[in-house]
This record gives sequence, structure tokens and C-alpha cells, in this order.
Amino acid sequence: MNDQKIRVRFAPSPTGPLHIGGVRTALYNYLFARKHGGKVILRIEDTDQNRYVKGAEDYIVESLNWCGILFDEDIVNGGPYGPYRQSERKHIYREYAEQLVRHGYAYYAFDTPEELDVMREKEKNNDVHLSQYGPFTRLGMKNSLSLSQDEVKQRIASGEPYVIRIKIPENEEIHVNDLIRGDVLVQSSSLDDKVLFKSDGWPTYHLANIVDDHLMEISHVIRGEEWLPSAPLHVLLYRYFGWEETMPEFAHLPLLLKPDGNGKLSKRDGDRLGFPVFPLQWMDPVTKDISSGYRESGYLPDAFVNMLAFLGWNPGTEQELFTMDGLIHEFSLERVGKHGSKFDPEKARWYNHQYLVKKPEKELIGLLKQELEKRNLHFEDPFIATVIHLIKERANLIPDLWNNSCFFFLPPTAYDEHVVKKVWNPPPVVFALLTSFLKEAEAISEWNHDQVYAFIQDFVSRKDMKMGQLMNPLRLLMAGNNQGPGIMDIATTLGKEEFLKRIETGLGKMPR
Ligand code: GLU
Repeated sequence: MNDQKIRVRFAPSPTGPLHIGGVRTALYNYLFARKHGGKVILRIEDTDQNRYVKGAEDYIVESLNWCGILFDEDIVNGGPYGPYRQSERKHIYREYAEQLVRHGYAYYAFDTPEELDVMREKEKNNDVHLSQYGPFTRLGMKNSLSLSQDEVKQRIASGEPYVIRIKIPENEEIHVNDLIRGDVLVQSSSLDDKVLFKSDGWPTYHLANIVDDHLMEISHVIRGEEWLPSAPLHVLLYRYFGWEETMPEFAHLPLLLKPDGNGKLSKRDGDRLGFPVFPLQWMDPVTKDISSGYRESGYLPDAFVNMLAFLGWNPGTEQELFTMDGLIHEFSLERVGKHGSKFDPEKARWYNHQYLVKKPEKELIGLLKQELEKRNLHFEDPFIATVIHLIKERANLIPDLWNNSCFFFLPPTAYDEHVVKKVWNPPPVVFALLTSFLKEAEAISEWNHDQVYAFIQDFVSRKDMKMGQLMNPLRLLMAGNNQGPGIMDIATTLGKEEFLKRIETGLGKMPR
């Protein structure tokens, strides 16, 4: 592989938010380019005006930025092969379609939507391939293959709308050499005469994609498996244009599957199972429906990227944690699997946890501080650091930092009913016990771990009870539930005054 010539592209269509499968495609392109010292390009494929969704392009750019997937050439910074938005290249494509017509590889077609329906209706009992607009039906349709030259000229001159279709050969084997799947063989008779250029003056995806990959000197097309069925058509187009020599290599990435492995991961799975399938939160511009995003759910971008990299690729070792540089170093298309990878929401949280606990203390303080500030709470850094130290092992997502620690900053405003039932039982006994605990604890002179611990042990043994019988109600009064770090840690972090105050307040609210 001549590394100097490696040029890959990520070519999303701005038809909605970018699915995490799309982010993975972008990531693999990025890793591949960086690994080989090549270039990675972001090209926006916005030729389908009907599917254009406002805000989608910005969303794509922002998502990839958040992930740290940075491009050498794109719509923001431009580059020597620009423009990188297909709508700004509209003037380029017609000539290429006409070139194919001149060479007999494509033709004009005048069929109206009604006529196409009639054809499909008539052919519907046929084998699906035979019923398509293609080698077996095209001569019965209205196009420049079936009509006389004069008629074609006249129809065009009179302004009749037409499309340009590729002329698929009748019986030919088409080979797609895929870097992941090997040789993929397709019979041309199974393909249809796809529209390359539409009556509205816009190219279709197929034409624009091939023309641009050629003009942008793309060396490798790395994209989702859903495009594999289009690859034979693309190979034909390269041949028809006479660009076979410089045809890029193909690598079709396996699908991202639902957690149970049954089919492609969709937005609905995320909604149903409670995890995001989009990198960033997205609001549908029409329905105003909100879809959750990894960023807003409290994932760290490096954890998200690490997790995504492993959905379809592995380094062949046990190592699971990689920085972006580490991924670049290890990545190879040879180690991308052929089979779909199941998305595992648990694993996503696991990755985030790994990155969260390794974050420098200062950054964690910053993250928790943001939560505190949102609630107008102000605490000194050393106190926040102590709290973080106590709770971070149980935190997976950024919001867990607050959710697991809020009682250190605010006394409980309510007590979990189920926990009350369980640990404040029988009420008169527990009430009496905590009342006497409060009284005696006031006498502790030095409120440090050893003193408090010694006191509690002595208290429990004098009352002839088990540790849990005291600890559980105490924790309830401190945190409002049965969560959180050990009671000793809570006691020393909150300090004597606050600790005892919470017992007193709790006693006033608990059943007697
Ligand atoms: N515009 C296509 C998409 O939205 C690109 C497919 C390709 O990479 O060729 O996925």
C-alpha cells in the first residue's frame, strides 16, 4: 500500500441525525487514514432534496468534532478538491451522465410515474429481478433505446422531463473485491437500470458518489454494509467511465446489531431499551421529538469512541482500553469482522466508567462543580474532592457523580418509603435506639474515623445488637435511602454537627 496516496472519505447524507453506526464508519475511516499517513475527507451528500433535513449537517459536524474525528478536507475548512458539499458541485454531474449516454452506457428515459407503475403491475408475477426496469423490460418502455432518435430529440427539445438511466449489461458476472468480505460475485441480471440523473436536474447518489470519489482521488471506500448491494453498480460505473485503473478499494463494514442480535440497531431499540443511538441529542425540526444523545447522557467522548471502535474491530489482544492514538496505532481493516456486532449498552457504561475513574481529580471536581452550580450550591474543592473519592467507583456516567453524592451537599428532603419499611423496624425499637445514639454521640470529643468507629462498636455491643441494625437506619437518615459509601466515611465527611443534625431531623420525621 502506498501510504502517500491514501485518501478516504466519510460521506453522510444530511437526512437526519447521525446514527452511531455512521459515527463508527467515520471513525474507521479516520483511524485508517491516520494510521497510513493519508487524508480523511468529509463530504456532504445532499443531492436528494426531498430527504434534506434542516440542522442535520450541523449536527453531523458537531458530532464528529465531539468525538475528536477531525478531517483534513471538509465543508468547514475546504481543501484542494472542494467544494465538499455535493449541492455546491451540482454543475459537475450532468456532463458525466451525458458522457455515459454518448458512449452507450446510459440512456434517456421518459416514462411517467404512472407508466412505471403499469410496468411493475404487469411484471409483478415475475421474478423480482425480471420485473425491474432493466435488461428484460427496458425495450418495452419509453426511452432512447426503444424510441427512434428523432423522437428522442423531439421529446427533449419540447421540454419533456426525462431521467438518465444506466444500461446494465444482460448477462455478466460482476466482481466486487471487498477488503473485508473478499470476492463478492453478482450477476448483472439481478441489477436494475438505476437512475443516475433525475428530471429535476440533480444527480442521484450513485452518480454523484462515483464522480466525486474519482475527482477527489479516493483510494479506499470504507462504508456500511448496507451499501454492498450498490457496489456492483459502482464497479460498473467505474468501468463505463474508463476509471477502472484508479477505482478505489472497497471495505464494507458489518452492521451494528440490536443487543439481542436480531437485526439492525435502530432508533426504536434505543427508545425501548433506554440507551442513546445518537452521539448528541437531536430534536426533530418538524415533530420536535427529542432523541437522546451520548453526550447529553453523560458519556465522555474518548470512552464513546473506544467503545465504538470495538463494535466490529478488535486488536487481537486482551487490551480493551485505547486512546485515539492507541487506536490509530493498532487499527487495521484485516481485523474488522465480517459479522454484525451486537450493541451492548452495559459495555458502553463500562467503558465510560473506566474513563471516568481515571480522569484527573481536578477534572472530576470540575464536572461535579458544574452540577453543584446548576443548583446554586457552593463548596470548597477539597470537600468536593473527598466526596468524589468516596463515590466515583460507583459512577458510570457523568450525572452519577451528582446522583451518588447529592446527600453530601444537601440533607435528604424525603426518605425512601421501602427503605423506611425495611430498616426502621420495629419503629419503637429503632426510634429509641437512635435517640440514645444521638444523645451519646454528642459526647464524642474528637470527630475522626477512629473515635467514631470505636464509639459505634462500643455502642452496638452494649446494646447487644448487630452492626447493620444501627448502620442501616443511620444511612437512611443521612442519605434518605440505602445507598452510598460506608457510614464511617459519611460521618467523617459530613462532620459532627451535620451528622447529628440529620439524626435529629430524621427522628422528628420517622415513625415512633
Ligand atoms: N451518502 C451515503 C450515506 O449516506 C454514502 C455511502 C457511501 O459511503 O458511499 O451513507
